[in-house]
Amino acid sequence: EMVEDSKVPECISSVIPGWFSEISPMWPGEAHSLKVEKILFQGKSDYQNIMIFQSSTYGKVLVLDGVIQVTERDECAYQEMIAHLPLCSIPNPKKVLVIGGGDGGVLREVSRHSSVEQIDICEIDGMVVDVCKQFFPDLAVGYEDPRVNLHVGDGVAFLKAVPEGTYDAVIVDSSDPIGPAQELFEKPFFESVAKALRPGGVVCTQAESIWLHMHIIEDIVSNCRQIFKGSVNYAWTTVPTYPRQASLITKFQIGVIGFMLCSTAGPPVDFKHPVNPIDDDDSQKAPLKFYNKQIHSAAFCLPSFAKKVIDSK
Ligand code: SAM
Repeated sequence: EMVEDSKVPECISSVIPGWFSEISPMWPGEAHSLKVEKILFQGKSDYQNIMIFQSSTYGKVLVLDGVIQVTERDECAYQEMIAHLPLCSIPNPKKVLVIGGGDGGVLREVSRHSSVEQIDICEIDGMVVDVCKQFFPDLAVGYEDPRVNLHVGDGVAFLKAVPEGTYDAVIVDSSDPIGPAQELFEKPFFESVAKALRPGGVVCTQAESIWLHMHIIEDIVSNCRQIFKGSVNYAWTTVPTYPRQASLITKFQIGVIGFMLCSTAGPPVDFKHPVNPIDDDDSQKAPLKFYNKQIHSAAFCLPSFAKKVIDSK
């Protein structure tokens, strides 16, 4: 029996006035909401709508096409994991390529590795870079490292032009596969990543949520198994403001995000047992907040429902 409109409690009105609700076809039927203190920037680039707001509980928030990309409070969980899972898994990474990642947070993490000599980044949207430099200094600090070379352009085209065997590691910090990042989830892109890597080189790509996107993950895994002849693994971490599932048992929400970690044929890479610990004694830099050796190995332990699907691909 339908409840009359007048009796619907206020807490279930569809959009809460003064709150940002993340409504997207990527997660139909649910929408995470954050209370907005102030909208700091709104604009439209050649590629997407960009909004930055001050939230009550997560600091500043970057939103692209209605989807939360970064919040000041929980960005460490994502940036540290997407950078150190691949880079701590191989000895002496020297040349690293970041695709996407315009906010600069991944660059900040890559630059913790003293063996790294060259960090190339290809971000499609120059406006993301500019507004992050203005509003997210703790992320955009990544651009200050002299090893960083910024290319503004499409990551797909950039990779096609990379000479074979150039990079030790490629990190794909992309948005979701709706919009400009769509091709970053497709087979030809993974083929050019594999070509751009040296033998035994590694890739780490943003690979969505095991709760919401198993169908996308299945496709990524089966493509990667065909393309990467070293090892192919799925890892995950928690990021509270990423696509979430409300837990009725614990009554709080935990968003999760996954990563696809693969290596090319060559010196074998055992991602679950990191060989290149990160030296955390550089007093110039803020300490790591999330990543450590134990959480590195734990990230590859999957819930049974996800393990079953991923292992079968
Ligand atoms: N950590 C966040 C997450 O996973 O939600 C942040 C992602 S980062 C800000 C995503 C970036 O990828 C965006 O700045 C977007 O402009 C960029 N991007 C999307 N498609 C791209 C493409 N084809 N080539 C290069 N960069 C792309």
